[in-house]
Amino acid sequence: MTDAQAEAAQGVPGPGRSGGRADAGDVRRRVPRTDVLLRDPRLAAAVERLGQAVVKEAVREAQQWARDGRVPPDRVPETALDLLPGTASGLRPVINATGVLLHTNLGRAPLSDAARQAVAEAAGPTDVELDLTTGVRARRGRSALAALRERVPAAGDAHVVNNGAAALVLAATALAAGKEIVVSRGEMVEIGDGFRLPDLLVSTGARLREVGTTNRTTAADYADAVGPDTGFVLKVHPSNFRITGFTRSAEVGELAGLGVPVVVDIGSGLLAPHPALPEEPDAATQLRAGAALVTASGDKLLGGPQCGLLLGDRDLVRALARHPLARALRVDKLTLAALEATLSGPPTPTARALAADPAGLRARADRLAAELAAHGIDVRAVDSTATVGGGGAPGVELPSAALSLPEPYAAALRTGRVPVVGRLEAGRCLLDLRAVPPADDERLAQAVRRARTEGGRA
Ligand SMILES: *Cc1c(COP(=O)(O)O)cnc(C)c1O
Repeated sequence: MTDAQAEAAQGVPGPGRSGGRADAGDVRRRVPRTDVLLRDPRLAAAVERLGQAVVKEAVREAQQWARDGRVPPDRVPETALDLLPGTASGLRPVINATGVLLHTNLGRAPLSDAARQAVAEAAGPTDVELDLTTGVRARRGRSALAALRERVPAAGDAHVVNNGAAALVLAATALAAGKEIVVSRGEMVEIGDGFRLPDLLVSTGARLREVGTTNRTTAADYADAVGPDTGFVLKVHPSNFRITGFTRSAEVGELAGLGVPVVVDIGSGLLAPHPALPEEPDAATQLRAGAALVTASGDKLLGGPQCGLLLGDRDLVRALARHPLARALRVDKLTLAALEATLSGPPTPTARALAADPAGLRARADRLAAELAAHGIDVRAVDSTATVGGGGAPGVELPSAALSLPEPYAAALRTGRVPVVGRLEAGRCLLDLRAVPPADDERLAQAVRRARTEGGRA
C-alpha cells in the first residue's frame, strides 16, 4: 500500500468531508453489509489466510469508519483490507525506537533473519528428537546443544530450558532441595515485575544461607557458611543495578575450592567476553574460573529466543537434564531452531545494535530528519544515549542518535499501522536509532509521515 492510499484509508476527516455528516442516515444505508463484503474475493482470500473471526473484525471496523464519515461507503472493502493484521496473532510487530536494546516489554532480543527462517522451517514436523539415519529416537535438540558447546568449549555439556529463571529453579531443585544455597546479601536480585530470585529459589524447597552484607562479601564469608548442608554456592550477576563505592565481592575462582559446586547466574547470556562490555560476565570465563554450572537467558545479550541456558560440568548437566522437573521446563522445537540459528548464524540484531558506530547512527538520523522536514514535519536529528536494558550491562551508556519530534507524536506513532515506540525526553518524542535496524529506516519514516496526519501536528 502506498502512503497516499494509507492516508486515504485513514481518511482524516477534513473540512470537506465533515460536511457530509448532515445526511448520516443516507451514508448508513450505503455501508455494504457484512455478508456482501465477505464475498469480495480479496476478503474471501483473507479468510483463508487469517480465519473468519479476524477478517470479520476488520470488516466491522471498516463499516464503522464509514458510518463515522471517516471513509466513503464505497471504500469499505479497501479499508477492511487495510485494517487486516499481517497474521492471525494479536502480537503486532513493533519498531523499537526506545534506545533500550533489550526492552522486556517489547520481547527483549529481536531474532536474526536466520533465526526467523529456522523457526518457520521447524514449524512443521521436524527431526527434533529423531535420528533420520537410524530411524530411532535421538537426544532432543542435539544440534542446538552441539552449537552451544561449540561456542563454549569450556562447558562439558549444555542443556536448555524455558528461561533463565527456569534454569535456576532446575539447579536449585536438583542440587539443593532440602539443603542450603549459600548466596551473598549483595546478590539478592529482583529481576522485574515484582519477581525476586530469593523467592524463586526458596520456592524449590531450598533454604537460603545469606552471607556478607549488601556492599561487601568476602570469600571467607562463604567459606564460613559452607558445610554438610550446603547444596551449592550461588553467584548472581546484578544485571539490572550497580553498587559502587565501598564494595567487595568474591570471585568465582576464590569459591571453587570450597568443596561444593559453584553455580553462577550470569543473566545476560554472553558466551565469551564482549569488548564493549568489560564488566559483563560471560559463560566461558566463569567456567574456566571454576564454576560447576553457569545459567543465563537466551534472549538478552545472546540475542536469541527466550530460553534458559545451563552450561557446565558434564555429569552435573546430564543429571539436571534427567531430573523429573526438566520435563516441565523443556523448550519447544521453535526455540531450539531459533537458538541454533542464533548461535551459528550471522551476527544478531542485538550484536549489530551494540556495535553500531555513533557517526553512522547520526548520519541516518540526519538523512531521515531532512527527508521528513521536507514533508513539513517539525523534526530534527539529535544526539542521544541508548542503554542495553534490564537484560544486562547496567550503567553502560551507548552514544546514539535520534529523531526529535513534538510530544504528541509518541501516542500517534504507538497506535499507528506499524507501531513505533519511542521515548519522551524534555517534552519531545525521541526516536532513537540504535535499536532500529537500518533496513527499517524507510518504514520508520513512513510511520512518522502517517502519524503526522493522526495528531502529531498538535
Ligand atoms: C534476567 C535475569 C534472570 C531471569 O532470566 P529470565 O530469562 O528472564 O527468566 C535471572 N538472573 C539474572 C541475573 C538475570 O539478569
